[in-house]
Amino acid sequence: MLRRQEARESNARSYPRRIPLVLTEGRGIYLRDSAGQLFIDCLAGAGTLALGHNHPDVVAALRATLDSGLPLHTLDLTTPVKDRFVEDLFAALPPAFARDARIQFCGPTGADGIEAAMKLARTATGRRTIVGFSGGYHGMTHGTLAIMGNLGPKRPLGGGTGDAHMLPYPYDYRCPFGLGGEAGVDAGLSMIEQLLSDPESGVVTPAAVVVEVVQGEGGVVPAPVRWLHGLRRLTRAHGVPLVIDEVQTGLGRTGRLFAFEHAGIEPDILVLSKAIGGSLPLSVVVYNAGLDCWAPGAHAGTFRGNQLAMAAGSATLHRIRADRLDEHAAAMGARLTGHLRAIQADHPCLGDVRGPGLMIGVEIVDERRPPLRLGARPADGELARSLQRRCLEQGLILELGGRHGAVVRFLPPLVVSAAEIDEIADRFRTALRAALA
Ligand code: PMP
Repeated sequence: MLRRQEARESNARSYPRRIPLVLTEGRGIYLRDSAGQLFIDCLAGAGTLALGHNHPDVVAALRATLDSGLPLHTLDLTTPVKDRFVEDLFAALPPAFARDARIQFCGPTGADGIEAAMKLARTATGRRTIVGFSGGYHGMTHGTLAIMGNLGPKRPLGGGTGDAHMLPYPYDYRCPFGLGGEAGVDAGLSMIEQLLSDPESGVVTPAAVVVEVVQGEGGVVPAPVRWLHGLRRLTRAHGVPLVIDEVQTGLGRTGRLFAFEHAGIEPDILVLSKAIGGSLPLSVVVYNAGLDCWAPGAHAGTFRGNQLAMAAGSATLHRIRADRLDEHAAAMGARLTGHLRAIQADHPCLGDVRGPGLMIGVEIVDERRPPLRLGARPADGELARSLQRRCLEQGLILELGGRHGAVVRFLPPLVVSAAEIDEIADRFRTALRAALA
């Protein structure tokens, strides 16, 4: 019967093709399939499940909300659950940012939040162009596809879908300027400066710059801190709102509650989704009050008041803050990175191991081919796909990302223990041996 459902499902389905399991149970970092096999889930709802599957706090918050008789559908009307959620989120934000911030509840997905952020920036500035970065991922709606930093999903639509301008992202391992390190950062910043300040660049002043502090789908690529400082300084100097997309990085995943805290910068507009709904659909935009130019009702939507998602989100925020799961993610991430670097020492096909906290990417390269630039060998998407299959055989669910799908991504729930991290590394090592045999 389940297979019948799959046969009916759209050709656009993606995860079931690479992870062909029928899931029946989820607990913590584990998933069980209909054959009874247990898997470690390092995909975790594409980075959504900060507390893992069915965390007791989340389940209790959902039960309490259901038992309370609260109306479950409330448009964007006020409820005690919503009031508590806003208080909990603002208590978690850096105080200087929270002081003058406003919150907009958006539709249920991350893309809904990005759509709202782009619309807000355009309304506030009266400008049109949105600047995005190569490798960036902000969703699959028409508006967000405009700043998709990868042509694949845009090509069937005839290219871009909106007024956007793409710039190179400071991807150090494959530096787009062929320089790498500090020189690469300088080159990237001078391109942004030229775009924003030089009329000869031919680009009108943009309405916003949208950036991920660590690109997720783009292959777990962290932006250097000095580049982020420069981006913040330049956007502020030229009056261009900086939108930071923390849909995937937010709520402790990178070892800080918000990834922008690594660089000590603040956004003008912050977009959150995934973990903020505690495994249920929710997205919000938090922004400087000075940008709150919208007329009442200027941004509406029927599903902006998911009570269960807000209750689950509040429970998640409480647990993350009470147990300092951001610090735990930093420690567990360092442990896993240490294991992966040890494996890399014996296996040159692990070209690069990178990422802060529990957002880790391993770029798979073809060790038989000569290096391209800066010592990086060509990406090997085929080996990465074979490795993903072997990991599944070992009971380890992982997803790929980046150009050619050659980056293996580790996004385990933040509650993962040290012993479980060691187990993940062991399974990965075994799978790698099998993939190379
Ligand atoms: N921004 C980022 C950084 C993301 O990783 C994603 C989803 N992977 C999105 C936006 C879009 O979120 P959704 O799939 O919920 O629309």
